Amino acid sequence: MEGYDSMNYRVTSTQGQFVLKAYQQNQRIIEVIKAENEVLKDLEDNSNRYPKVIANSATESLTFDNAHPDQCFRLLTYVTGTFWGDIEQPSATLLRSYGRFLGQIDHQLSKLNPVAIRAKRMVWDLDHFLLNEPLIEFIDCPHERKLVDYFFLQYKEHVLSQLPILRKSLIHNDANDWNVLTKDGEVSGIIDFGDMVYSSLINELAVGLAYVLMDIDDPIGSAVHVIQAYHLIIPLKESELDLIYYLIAARLCTSVCNSAKTKREKPDSDYITISERPAWDLLGRWISISPYRASEAFRKACGYKPKRIQTSSEALQARKKYLGPGLSLSYDRPIYMRSAAFQYMYDSEGNALLDAYNNIKHVGHCHPHVVNAGRRAMAHLNTNTRYIFDSLTNYAQHLLSYFPDELSKVYFVNSGSAASDLALRMARVYTRRDTMAVVKHGYHGNSSSGIEVSHYKYAHKGGSGRQGHIIEAELPDCYRGKYTGDDGGRLYARDFIEINESATIGAFIAEPIVGCGGQVPLATGYLNELYPYIRSQGGVCISDEVQVGFGRIGTHYWGYEGHGVLPDIVILGKPIGNGHPMAAVVCTDEIADAFDNGMEFFSSFGGNPVSCAIGKAVLEVIENESLQQNALLVGNYMMDRFREIQQYYDVIGDVRGAGLFIGIDIILPQSDKAPNTVLASVIKNELRELSILVSTDGPSNNVIKIKPPLCFNRANADRLVEAFQEVLNRRVT
Ligand code: PMP
Repeated sequence: MEGYDSMNYRVTSTQGQFVLKAYQQNQRIIEVIKAENEVLKDLEDNSNRYPKVIANSATESLTFDNAHPDQCFRLLTYVTGTFWGDIEQPSATLLRSYGRFLGQIDHQLSKLNPVAIRAKRMVWDLDHFLLNEPLIEFIDCPHERKLVDYFFLQYKEHVLSQLPILRKSLIHNDANDWNVLTKDGEVSGIIDFGDMVYSSLINELAVGLAYVLMDIDDPIGSAVHVIQAYHLIIPLKESELDLIYYLIAARLCTSVCNSAKTKREKPDSDYITISERPAWDLLGRWISISPYRASEAFRKACGYKPKRIQTSSEALQARKKYLGPGLSLSYDRPIYMRSAAFQYMYDSEGNALLDAYNNIKHVGHCHPHVVNAGRRAMAHLNTNTRYIFDSLTNYAQHLLSYFPDELSKVYFVNSGSAASDLALRMARVYTRRDTMAVVKHGYHGNSSSGIEVSHYKYAHKGGSGRQGHIIEAELPDCYRGKYTGDDGGRLYARDFIEINESATIGAFIAEPIVGCGGQVPLATGYLNELYPYIRSQGGVCISDEVQVGFGRIGTHYWGYEGHGVLPDIVILGKPIGNGHPMAAVVCTDEIADAFDNGMEFFSSFGGNPVSCAIGKAVLEVIENESLQQNALLVGNYMMDRFREIQQYYDVIGDVRGAGLFIGIDIILPQSDKAPNTVLASVIKNELRELSILVSTDGPSNNVIKIKPPLCFNRANADRLVEAFQEVLNRRVT
């Protein structure tokens, strides 16, 4: 059998079975093998738990043979037992035996200190995990690569600074499922000491657990048994327990990185990639487990008190002391967030919440490509557009490549509100008109001019009503509105044109799918009819893509493309920076020229090098991970599943949207589309208790809003739909 640095043969003779190991020799290998042999001799007892070194006829433990001048050989006893890897779901007793066994061997190894092994520096040593970073590029699948990249980032964040203070010892460093042997429900032996290193002691457990937890139903519960039993032999420190979650992930990453490299170099090698599939499975599951839940469970297993952190009500009280009361909180029981990974968010209670709501984290929370781009840029240069720097020009060019030639200029700002404010100002300067047409229930920003064009704000509580220069268009809603047929779009537009025939409109602003209006797609044909009219009477058309842009709707990159129209000005925000505060206005040359009327346009932060690096990274991730396509596939799949269950629940009035921008309209039972605000709120809050995040919106706040990060997958969609159904089953009789 092929190993990383040896060929291994089973030798059967009249004296029993042995393992013959053949190495390509060099001085370093010889020194290490000699040291390994010394360790095995020191470990030797009557238990047959470890291989014993068999000396050759010259009583030497290493054999050189003239017939094979490049090689050296050694013979070990054959340790018998059932491989851990052949056990389906290990029992608690077996898991505890595993922990005890590791504790015992580490206790023995802690007394040894072979110099040749101390000098080893290898990729399989978690203290040197970062040596594996260059191997990430061997991973072909971008969805897999990002997971590994994420855990490298977490290692740097959580482990690196701790390395100097973690206690070190000689460790076996490879208690994997094909090295550990069992007999009669107990761990009975361990083989292959070739990975022994002098490293942080806690790495022993992390390495072992990475394999033990593969293919296991309850990884944290199982890990607890192992850790608890180990702790009884070698008491673990709190600081060590807090790192296990990240170290397990690091070992899984080491395994998949090296498998990926080997697959490129030796495509036929089965042995070396043996752990690959289960390692990927566990890594994929690992992000759905909260690191805080894991470390609390491990601390508890060792008798430590939970880490004292503020409760959410304490944190809320502190927040209220310093922040204005106008800020709202989601859910009846607000969430105290601690960190996040892709489509998961980790709260202070140890939950991993499935995020089906935060569209801003477009490519996934804390995406490593985006985080690293921002970090690097921040360490390099941060300045403003009054200087020339390449990242601004390059990013502008890259972003504009997603637009047709007509939309050829971009201005960068720092929020969707600043972008809509700027867009409106441009429209005013260009058309020399002040009248703005807006769609009812739309929202475009929190600036004064943003509120002026946001019916969602000015027409509701605290709003001061429609201002004189604002013209309202009915929401062209084909579910609940005046027109519901195929021709609805055209009819809504016709009505608007008829009513406002005498108006001189400067700009018409609308979202392609009206988010705050309850995820209502503008009726088909509406913009086709309205845009030419607005232009014919001298106005410009603004598409607010803050919510739906960057591939979210699946079929197209931009929402306006889904309507087959071309705006004069486009507003970009939220997803553009994956949470980094940036936004942009894209417009025609003509509008940009007119806007250059002598007054300088300057934004202190808009278009700074850090934002440009982040924006570029976001565009790259959308491409690399085919996220637009994923939005289409998973979005359609989820809507299909919702439509399936809609047949059984008459409270689901409508399932609508595009890609991963979905609305579920909740109505009163046996009613004619009467909004069911109470039930929608119940669904939102009960899903939250089931660790799934959605929101409600719409004029009656009865529409469940679903707009997850675009890495949301089918399994996530299944979980959401099934939980939704569970809540309805509880509530609907
Ligand atoms: N336009 C739309 C459609 C929005 O949804 C929002 C934010 N909800 C904005 C503009 C304003 O963006 P920001 O909150 O970044 O100022």
